[in-house]
Amino acid sequence: NRPLECRMSLEFSDRRVAGTPDAERARLLTDPVFGQVLTDHMVTIKWTRERGWHDALLGPYGPLALDPATQVFHYGQEIFEGLKAYRREDGSIVSFRPDANAARLNSSAVRMAMPALPEETFLEALRLLLDADRDWVPSGHGNSLYLRPFMIATQRSLGFYDASDSYLFTVIACPAGAYFKGGVEPVSVWITTDYSRAADGGTGAAKCGGNYAGTLVAQRQAAEQGCDQVVWLDSKERRWVDEMGTSNMFFVHGDRLVTPELTGTLLSGVTRDSVLTLARDLGLTAEEGRVSVEQWRADAASGRLTEVFSCGTSSMITPVGRARSAQGEWLMGDGRPGPVTLRLREELMGIQSGERPDRHGWLHKM
Ligand code: PMP
Repeated sequence: NRPLECRMSLEFSDRRVAGTPDAERARLLTDPVFGQVLTDHMVTIKWTRERGWHDALLGPYGPLALDPATQVFHYGQEIFEGLKAYRREDGSIVSFRPDANAARLNSSAVRMAMPALPEETFLEALRLLLDADRDWVPSGHGNSLYLRPFMIATQRSLGFYDASDSYLFTVIACPAGAYFKGGVEPVSVWITTDYSRAADGGTGAAKCGGNYAGTLVAQRQAAEQGCDQVVWLDSKERRWVDEMGTSNMFFVHGDRLVTPELTGTLLSGVTRDSVLTLARDLGLTAEEGRVSVEQWRADAASGRLTEVFSCGTSSMITPVGRARSAQGEWLMGDGRPGPVTLRLREELMGIQSGERPDRHGWLHKM
């Protein structure tokens, strides 16, 4: 399963527009509802079997015109990424580990039989979009511009014999306000045993759209149970924790952290990887392993388990205060955010905002 060939050194056409007037943009940037206000530009790059990647364009944001028989609408060959760019105090713009997202897009591409995009082209697409839409990157602690690169199958055919022979890679962006406005609030989680997100040999480790569509009914069930998020277990025994909603999970036992290992059924989060590193920097022990629901509950009851948190690009690091399953309900400690969670959160967000040193070279100047 090798990635398809891709052509290097693309030339981008630059068709930028004047865009939203300053006063209107300033209004839209005050407390935007995440994902609903999009910036003025987008990047598109086409791929065909004959030409590889071509027609790279920075142009105005707008609808894509696609034939109703386009493959992505029927067979779901789609992958995406999500990462953030921040405005520093000196006005410069940085993004957090974009190279890791470029690599993950390509590993999703391999799983979904899609062409790989050269990492340099991915980064160049982000740089161009950020250059055109610089004024859309909000300042202020916790505020960012969320970048959404994605790739779809564009072959016009209802026949489903092989992978599409053409694709479109696109990057769009939207401002994101701080996830928690009035201080960090712990979330509650519903551990579902009725549904599973991913199975062995399936697509759980790829960031493809279908993985998300399949989770909506469970998310509704969580809401009916009075919980904020769903926790996903392995599909065979419905016993081992995989991940939570659109985040990875960490279990804290004093100064030892455990996160579910990458078995192929959960996403390899960039934040998860960063937390493993930061925890070790802080002198904590951070391991990948298996966590069962029974152990989770027993350790919470005995006090051995001191904190649980989730981590991902959208909410960064979020404490989990309460867990509920068909068997009952339990609290993590007193249900309030714990010190390890808050320390890691401060460290990660401090690096992103420039208040703490970026020892690992995670910030890329854009
Ligand atoms: N798991 C899933 C299913 C996700 O969608 C995400 C968000 N991309 C994550 C975990 C966290 O990944 P990251 O830290 O790269 O945002």
